[in-house]
Amino acid sequence: MIKDLKNSIILFICAFSNNMYSQVSENYIDSLFDKRGELYFSFEIDNQIDLSTISKLISIDHKSNQNTIYAYANKTEFINFLSLEIKYSLLNDIIKVPSSNSSKSNWNYYPTYQQYESIMQAFADSFPNICKIHNLGTLSSGHKILAVQISDNVGIPENEPSFLYTSSMHGNELTGYVLMLRLIDDLLNGYSSGLYQDIINEIDIWINPLANPDGAYAAGDQSVSGATRNNANWVDLNRNYPDPQDGQHPDGNSWQEETLIFMNLADSIPFSMSCNFHTGAEVFNYPWDTWSNLTADDSWWQELGAMYADTVHQYSNAGYFNYLNNGVTNGWDWYEVDGGRQDFMNYFKLCRESTIELSNTKIPNPTTLPGFWNDNKSSLINYIKQSLYGLRGIVTDSISGHPLKARVEIFGHDFDSSHVYSNLPVGNYHRYIDQGNYSFNFSCPGYQSKSVDVAINNSSTTILDVQLIPNSYVGIIQPISQKKLINEFDILGRKGSLNNIKVKVFKDGSTKKIININQN
Ligand SMILES: [Zn+2]
Repeated sequence: MIKDLKNSIILFICAFSNNMYSQVSENYIDSLFDKRGELYFSFEIDNQIDLSTISKLISIDHKSNQNTIYAYANKTEFINFLSLEIKYSLLNDIIKVPSSNSSKSNWNYYPTYQQYESIMQAFADSFPNICKIHNLGTLSSGHKILAVQISDNVGIPENEPSFLYTSSMHGNELTGYVLMLRLIDDLLNGYSSGLYQDIINEIDIWINPLANPDGAYAAGDQSVSGATRNNANWVDLNRNYPDPQDGQHPDGNSWQEETLIFMNLADSIPFSMSCNFHTGAEVFNYPWDTWSNLTADDSWWQELGAMYADTVHQYSNAGYFNYLNNGVTNGWDWYEVDGGRQDFMNYFKLCRESTIELSNTKIPNPTTLPGFWNDNKSSLINYIKQSLYGLRGIVTDSISGHPLKARVEIFGHDFDSSHVYSNLPVGNYHRYIDQGNYSFNFSCPGYQSKSVDVAINNSSTTILDVQLIPNSYVGIIQPISQKKLINEFDILGRKGSLNNIKVKVFKDGSTKKIININQN
């Protein structure tokens, strides 16, 4: 049905605009797209309209509410939409950003593209011990997708969760762009004056302020005025990812340069939590977007969302960030998105990614940006901190001590890719889950699986290091050593049993393992 709609070519279509029906010709459609490859329009909802079908044809915008749908479409998508014969109104979405008396220290301006590159480079140059800049990829336009990595021992794999903030994959949703630059600035300067020790020492933090530079600077590198939602090919990047339900190319487009860059990043860095920022509404949106199924960790997500929103409310004026359920919503409950980044990261990369909508206005007057910072700063910091909580530890081979890539799963709880893996080279795993008692199962090909019962509390860390015994292990009595023995223990903690697996630790740092099996 959907494919039929997509393939149909309609020469004469009934459409509704300015309160009258009119015959719309191909020439008229061409004229709508001659200056700009995307259209913004709205239509009213009635019982006849199946939003799920429509969301597969066009990009429904975050500004949509129970009565009115706001949407974007490129030319192909708009022709498909017209085939549905729904009354619509065209809207002007070309945003002119007022100039402001800006200063870098106040973060009340949108930088030019060149300023953006310079600011990012300056972060790394000024704080080389805790900040690295990464060019994740250069687009055909020459624009770069940049990220900074912030941590102590930055760039060296440690027993830390990797956390990602990424903003503005919709190029005309720019509140998060400036807030992310300011967050980087605040973290780096704060650390040097004694703040943020907990998160910078303990978390591998990645921040990408601008995920769609071609959209943000569509009208030129000097200004974000005229920014577009889509990328330079008029593709909505938040419909371009592999989808758990709708396959590899849910939008019918090949993966865009930007999409491939972020897929590569997720292949390279085992992010355990991430968040991507948009505007058009004021709400915390958690998975799934593509289907009505709830995640295995729905209660954890609700808790997390409420924490973000509640902390915003502590700092903001009444009326901000209270859309839907007081600033929190399940994605599909709001409106369906297929091919979104959030679901891709959760389902395919086993990373807990949320979507935060920071402001109703897509590109707010720059003088209001410090206000949005003030409202969101504590929530942004606390959200990073959440990546330390839940169950975590290191999984190793019980004999060699080598770290393992093990599957961490709760039978009877996990489904739809809610399990996680420990990451090499460190062997660390990070499992976020609502408080309760769970039996965690650790498995790795070639090893005996192990289940451990653990009690989890919210906003606290439970550490469980796990040693897995190789299937192929055969006991060998080691020859007597002249080395000085400093410790000896059974790896399963057994005491006084004749059956045991002894580990001997010697003064020179070497170890030996001995299996004793007493058949009697
Ligand atoms: Zn968006």
